[in-house]
Amino acid sequence: MDGRGTSFWHDVWCGEACLADRFPRLYRQAANKQGTVFEHFSENLWRPNIQRRILRGGEAQEMRDLNASLNTMALSAGRDEWIWKHSHSNVFTVKSMYGVLFRHDRVYAPPVEAFPYKVAWEPNIPTNVKFFIWSLLWERILTIDNLNARGMITYNVCALCNCSPESINHLFLLCPISVVAWNDCVGHIPRMGGVMNFSNPKILLSEWPKLNNRGMAEACWAILPYTIMWVVWSVRNEIIFAGAVLDTGQLLQRVKRTLWAWLDVVCKAVDVKKGFTVSDLLLRWESIVVDSW
Ligand SMILES: [Zn+2]
Repeated sequence: MDGRGTSFWHDVWCGEACLADRFPRLYRQAANKQGTVFEHFSENLWRPNIQRRILRGGEAQEMRDLNASLNTMALSAGRDEWIWKHSHSNVFTVKSMYGVLFRHDRVYAPPVEAFPYKVAWEPNIPTNVKFFIWSLLWERILTIDNLNARGMITYNVCALCNCSPESINHLFLLCPISVVAWNDCVGHIPRMGGVMNFSNPKILLSEWPKLNNRGMAEACWAILPYTIMWVVWSVRNEIIFAGAVLDTGQLLQRVKRTLWAWLDVVCKAVDVKKGFTVSDLLLRWESIVVDSW
């Protein structure tokens, strides 16, 4: 989308609710409440246009979360229309997707005590991503095989590799494109050679090992699997809904840029970031994220 037909604050275009609802304190201070998404993006930066220069407690936290959310979004040329290319005529929004998900869900739900709540809600990642991970762990994200199970018959092929049926395990672990992303981030850590041996994302997140390191390395490592899964899901959606073309190099960069943005979600990360720039993550990843003994 290029953002000209979408309201920055009032439409649901980033996350599962409109930004005015998600960030009410910032919205009160917004200089351009009726502006479009396009008007809030210039020179490759998001500009929420908040009037108050010095943000107060709750506003500063909202600003960090807003930036983290916005940094996972990019504008592209084209009309603001999300097209579900695997079905006949439906235009989807994230909100309508989740509506479908929860209204029509008759899939067996595992017992509550078996569900790894901590894995979804404790990491320092943006709220909409926690929601995504939570849905993924319940296997309620709308992968094509899940849509088919709900009676929406679509042609099932993974949008990233175009060669295997799409399922949660395929998309996030087995797809050759995901494998490249995992290898790019953990391939240099000897004991992670078996990263692809996790049999599903739930086990991967529950059993993700701790890195023997502190500071930037530890902070990146803790949220890395969430970042990879979120970026893979975002890129997949942009291909299916917005006609984007896969660029694996860009996907790899996006993992590290997103990670950098998410470090702001936790206040402590401001210290962790001292002395680093996003370029360090992009260019020196293997010498920063190391397992030291
Ligand atoms: Zn694939």
